[in-house]
Amino acid sequence: MRSSTALFVVIGALGACLGAALVTRDGSSPQRPSVYTPAQQEVDKRAVTKLPAVRAPADLGELAFAHVRTLVDFGPRNPGTPGWSKQLEYIEQTLTAAGLEVRRDTWTDRKELITFTNLAATIPGKKKERIVLACHHDTKCTTGHKDPAHNFHFVGANDGASAVALLLALAPVLMATPREATIELVFFDGEESLDWTWNEAARALFGSKRFVKKHRDALLLGEEARIEALVLLDMVGRTDLHIQDELYSTRQLRGVLWSAAVACGHQAHVMQRAEAASDDHKPFLDVGIPSVDLIDLNGNVHWHTKTDTIENMSPRSLQITADIVLTMLPEVERLYVVQKG
Ligand SMILES: [Zn+2]
Repeated sequence: MRSSTALFVVIGALGACLGAALVTRDGSSPQRPSVYTPAQQEVDKRAVTKLPAVRAPADLGELAFAHVRTLVDFGPRNPGTPGWSKQLEYIEQTLTAAGLEVRRDTWTDRKELITFTNLAATIPGKKKERIVLACHHDTKCTTGHKDPAHNFHFVGANDGASAVALLLALAPVLMATPREATIELVFFDGEESLDWTWNEAARALFGSKRFVKKHRDALLLGEEARIEALVLLDMVGRTDLHIQDELYSTRQLRGVLWSAAVACGHQAHVMQRAEAASDDHKPFLDVGIPSVDLIDLNGNVHWHTKTDTIENMSPRSLQITADIVLTMLPEVERLYVVQKG
């Protein structure tokens, strides 16, 4: 599987993947592949667009890390838990204090009888067309599984809290800069598969599926501005941060990610390995919305284990991701909103 240039794991033919994640760690076959299959082609790292580096404020990583600590202290945050309720309130309070209006979308899945909540807040730009900057806020449920190995105390410091914390820390920074596009901050619920193994078709990605469906309905009725692109963050605070070349993601946007990493001098943390990972960007890709997932899954030994704790996180990793996101966004706005308009 290792080529001379890079590790290149093609799993498109196999369809859906595990976890926010990968094919068949347990050897099981996926249920139903998403309509969208991975590009199966790595980014050409020689094709760098020269972008101006946009640095996050020097204390942003520490600020985000403090948010992680708070969220982790709430305990497990899968739907219905006390930690889940506390986290929703914390996200709302933090964004409201920053001057944003937070919209809550709560619904009960008829089959699962689980109540989920997505949160969203809008940062207006010059144009009404939107770029979604998103994460998932739920943590993997690690209780009630048949296999006792899957039942343990899990706080999801990286898988869940890191990206939530980073969006909370970034919100005031994004608001302080005049933007071309309207930025929609979205916190999806129900990303994690209710089955221990990834079940994308039926039992995962609840929040992003709902969000995309509602958006499509609203577009038909002319009630919402179009979403032109999605930038998704998932697991962005690990000490050994490595944002992979995620092969489902739109290739042009992966190019922007790589160019932003180069502009900031963060190449060592980006795209040293390539692998497809199923995540909340899949429902967007399925309806043709260009999307990129900044995810640190490949080689992440803490993923869905009891060691996904704050001890294995670092403010520096959050700072690096913030630099990359802030450097990417103007180019994403230019490519998908300004040029289109
Ligand atoms: Zn996960």
